[in-house]
Amino acid sequence: MGSFIEGENEAVPEGDTVWRACRRLNDVLAGRVLTRSEFRVPSLATTDLTGVAVRQVTSRGKHQLFRFGNYFTLHTHFKMDGAWKIYSPGRRWGGGPAFQIRVVLATGDHDVVGYRLPIVELLPTADEATVVGHLGPDLLGPDWDLDEAVRRINAQPDRTIGEALLDQRNLAGIGTFYRAELLFLQGVHPRTPVENLTNLRRIVERGRQLLVANRMRAEQSTTGDLRRDRRAYVFERPGQPCRRCGTPIRTEEFGPPGQERRSYWCPRCQPGS
Ligand SMILES: [Zn+2]
Repeated sequence: MGSFIEGENEAVPEGDTVWRACRRLNDVLAGRVLTRSEFRVPSLATTDLTGVAVRQVTSRGKHQLFRFGNYFTLHTHFKMDGAWKIYSPGRRWGGGPAFQIRVVLATGDHDVVGYRLPIVELLPTADEATVVGHLGPDLLGPDWDLDEAVRRINAQPDRTIGEALLDQRNLAGIGTFYRAELLFLQGVHPRTPVENLTNLRRIVERGRQLLVANRMRAEQSTTGDLRRDRRAYVFERPGQPCRRCGTPIRTEEFGPPGQERRSYWCPRCQPGS
């Protein structure tokens, strides 16, 4: 028994990837007492959770929340390439060079190792809203609320749908992969202003369907094909022919200053607004 999350790094860390990682972490940690903890970040260098029980590991959008028996919560986030890996004791850790390790949590049965986590903080569980309270409805959460997500997106009608879908305050869980694929499937150009859309509700619903369909598997696919170079219609396919019409896929970066993200679209299937 090696890593449970073998190959996880292939998937873009979006809502479904985080949901699945937290589910596996919860399977091995919930109800267990930590036999060792290590935080390799300056602010938590002296923190020791040895002897503390893990109550639950859960996701909120792309955030990870580890709730402990001492009523503290460990909050982490993958951003671009973070990962949690699970190993049997004595197995070699393979998630990256040792200097990229940020957190180690061990029970007698598993070593759980967090690599390249740009956010690692411990806070009272009662204060979780200070780190995830700003998030819109979670596409994979038990409290998913389609009407509220649509309402939040519509609150900024002149914004592009491409930016609105990535803003986790509107709805939590969509990153650049699902944004690109979703807008292709709906025939919408990424720069279309929200106020010009006639099918916003359908776009959001379709987004949730894509995450739900992918949350149980390591390979993210929107085409239904799991082969490595067939999983996406437009994402990371610039210059390649559209799978529907053969037109070369286009790409550009756009977004608020400092938060520009790359988009992909077919100029024929997704005409400009
Ligand atoms: Zn096309």
